[in-house]
Amino acid sequence: AEATADMRQYRKTVCPFCSVGCSIWAEVENGVWVGQEPAFESPINQGTHCAKGAATREIALGERRTKYPMKKVDGAWIRLSWEQAIEEIGEKLLAIREEHGPDSVEWLGSAKFSNEQAYLFRKFAAFWGTNNVDHQARICHSTTVAGVANIYGYGAMTNSYNDIRNSKSIIIIGGNPAEAHPVSMLHVLGGKENGAPLIVVDPRFTRTAAHADEYVRIRPGADVAFLWGLARIILENGWEDREYLSQRVFGFDEVRKEIMNWTPDEVEKVTGIPPDQLERVARTLADNRPGTLIWCMGLTQSTIGNNKTRAASILQLILGNIGKSGGGANIFRGHDNVQGATDLGVSCDTLPAYYGLTESAWRHWGRVWDVEYSWLRDRFASKDLMEAPGIPVSRWADGVLDDEGVDQPAPLKGIFFWGHASNSQTRGPERVAALNAVDLCVIVDPYPTQTAIENEMTDNLYLLPSGSTMEMAGSVTNSNRSVQWREKVVEPLFEARTDYEIVRLLAEKLGFADRLFKHIGIENGVPVAEDILHEINRGTWTIGYTGQSPERLKRHMKQQELFDGISLIGTSGEVEGDYYCLPWPSWGRPEMDHPGTPLLYDLSKPVAEGGLPFRARWGVEHEGGNLLAEDSYPAGSEIEDGYPEITVNMLEALGWADELTDREKLIIVAVAADRFSHQMFDLTEEDAAPAMAALENAIRTADAEREAGPSDDGNTIDDAWLNSSPDGQDGSALPSNFPGYSDEALEVI
Ligand code: SF4
Repeated sequence: AEATADMRQYRKTVCPFCSVGCSIWAEVENGVWVGQEPAFESPINQGTHCAKGAATREIALGERRTKYPMKKVDGAWIRLSWEQAIEEIGEKLLAIREEHGPDSVEWLGSAKFSNEQAYLFRKFAAFWGTNNVDHQARICHSTTVAGVANIYGYGAMTNSYNDIRNSKSIIIIGGNPAEAHPVSMLHVLGGKENGAPLIVVDPRFTRTAAHADEYVRIRPGADVAFLWGLARIILENGWEDREYLSQRVFGFDEVRKEIMNWTPDEVEKVTGIPPDQLERVARTLADNRPGTLIWCMGLTQSTIGNNKTRAASILQLILGNIGKSGGGANIFRGHDNVQGATDLGVSCDTLPAYYGLTESAWRHWGRVWDVEYSWLRDRFASKDLMEAPGIPVSRWADGVLDDEGVDQPAPLKGIFFWGHASNSQTRGPERVAALNAVDLCVIVDPYPTQTAIENEMTDNLYLLPSGSTMEMAGSVTNSNRSVQWREKVVEPLFEARTDYEIVRLLAEKLGFADRLFKHIGIENGVPVAEDILHEINRGTWTIGYTGQSPERLKRHMKQQELFDGISLIGTSGEVEGDYYCLPWPSWGRPEMDHPGTPLLYDLSKPVAEGGLPFRARWGVEHEGGNLLAEDSYPAGSEIEDGYPEITVNMLEALGWADELTDREKLIIVAVAADRFSHQMFDLTEEDAAPAMAALENAIRTADAEREAGPSDDGNTIDDAWLNSSPDGQDGSALPSNFPGYSDEALEVI
C-alpha cells in the first residue's frame, strides 16, 4: 500500500468542457489517470463541478481515439508512420505553395488549443505566409467581440463569475447557464440568494428560466427590439444614469433617436412581449443597480448578432452599470479556451493580442519573434495580402468552390482542420463539395471527427492523432479572462503527439523551424510551453498578457494553502494580493507584480483625467438590420400556438406525428425540450403520462435499432470508421507500447 501511495501523484488541471474554467485535481498512478476531484480552493468552482466536468477523466480512456497517423487510400484507411505522414503532407504543401502561392492553404485552428498552441499556430501561419487562419470563435462570439470592443474598448466579459453574487439584478438573454455553464449558475443563484431579482429572456422555457423571478418569452431573433424597448421606457421615465451618460459616454444622442422609435406596442408586434411585462422588467433593472446583463450564443449566433450585442452593451451604459462590481456585460463564452484563442490571434483579421494587420503591427511581432520584417513580408504573396484579412472559417468553402467569391488571388487547394470539426459549420452541401474538391485535407485531432466521414477523397486525406488537452501543459483563459495553468496529466495516448510537437514536425519539413523556435526550447522533441508563454508575455501589450508568466500561474494553481482563510464569496479570490489566476489585463515588466483585473473598466478617474470613455455606436452600417421582419412571424406561429412548429416538424420527420394527438405532441416537445417546461403549460403529471409513454416507447425503439447495428447506408462514424481501420478502433485493445498501461495499471482502472 505504501508503494502504491508513493506512485500516486496529483496534477492540477482545468475542465475542458466549457468556458467557466473549473479547476480539477487529477489523480495519477503509475502513469494512469485513476481519479479526479473538483478543486475546493478554486474561487471559480469552489469544490464542485458539473456532470460534464465530472467526465473529464474519460478523455484518458481512449475509446474512439485516432491511434496513429492514417491516410485514406481507395476508400480504406491505411496506417502510416509519423515520418511518412509528415513527409507526404509536407511535400504536398510545398507543391501547392509552389504552384498556387501561400494563400492557397487554409489553417483552421481551435478554441480547444492552449494559449501557447493558439499563439504558436498563428505564428506558424504567418511564417507560412498567409492570414487564412481562423477558429470557432468566428461562428459563436465574434459578434460579441466586435460589438463589445466597439462600445467599451475590449472584446471580453467585463466582470467575473464570482462578482455576479454582488449584482442587485441579473438579466440573462439568450443563455441557459444551468445546462451550458452549470457551475456559473452557482454564482447566479448566489446573487439571487443575496436578493437580486433574476430575469430570463428566452424563446424556450429553459432549466435556467425555471429559476427566474420573471421569465420573458421572446420571439427568436427579436432581441434588439426588446432591448431598445427597455431603453425607451428607462429614458422616458428619467431612470437613466444621467451623470454617467454625460460624463463618460460619447455619441449617445444619435442612439437615443433610434431608441425612441420603439414604443411598447411596436416592441410587442416584433417580440411578442406584452407592454406591461416590458415595463415591469425596465423598472426592475432601474430599481436594482448595479445589475449584470449576461448573454450567450442565443444573442450572438445570428446575421444581426453584432447589432444585438451593441444594443445590450448600450443598455448597460444607460443604466450606468459598466465598470462597477455587480454590474457589467458578462458574456459567457463556449469552449474552454475560446477567449484565449481569440486573444492570441487564431483569426484571419488579427495578430496575437488584437494587433491589426498593419505594417507597424507586423514589425512589432517581427521584433518579438526576432525575425526580419523583410523576411516575413517575403513569405507572403504580396505586402497587400499580408495586410488584408484572410479567408474566415465561414467562407472557406467559397475559397475552394468559387474563388471569385472571396478576396483572394488563389483558390484554396489545401485545408487543415486542427482541433476543428467541419460539421461545426453551416452550409452542409457546399462544405461537403468543397471538402471533396481540395488537393489536400489534413485532420489533426485526438478523434477522427465528422470531417473524415464527409470526405470521400482518396490519397489526399490524412488523420494525424494529436494529444488531448489533458496530455500537454499550457495555460487557458476562461470566460472572465482568468488565465490558468493546466498541468499535463498523462502522456499522449497511443501514438498521438502533442500539438506543439506536430507544429515542430511540420515547420521542420517546411523549412522554417529554426526561425519559429528561435527562443523556444525543445525537450524530447516537444517545444516547451513555458518558453512559448514567455514569448507571449513579451509581445501582448495591447491586452495585458504580459504579467502572467508561467511561474506566477503555477504558483496560483499549486499553492492550495494560499487560499486558507480567504473568504471567496463575492470576490475573485486573492493570492497574496493577486486576483486568482491573474485575469487580463495583468501588466508585466519590469516587476511582474500586476495583480490582474477582475473588473475590466476603472471608473475611479473622470474621463478628463484619463479615465476610460465609452462610445455608444450605432452606425449607419446597421441601418435596417436591427430586427427580424415582422412578417417572418405569420399568424398562428409559435407564439400563439405555444410550441415551436419546427420541433413538431421534426416529430413528423421521425414518423411519430401520425400516432400522436396535437396535445401529446405539445407535451412531448415541451418535456423533451426541457424537463421544467411543463410548468409553462400548467401540465399535471396525469396530463403528461400518455405522451411520455409514447415518447419512452419511441426512445426504446430507437435504442433497439441502435443495438441492432448500423444502418445499411453506412453513414455513421461506427460504420465508416470502425470497419475501414486496419486494427479496428473500438478501444478494446490497448497498444502494447502504451506507457503506463501495464497489467497492474489496468487492474487499478
Ligand atoms: Fe467543466 Fe463548465 Fe462544468 Fe465547470 S461548469 S465543470 S468548466 S463543463
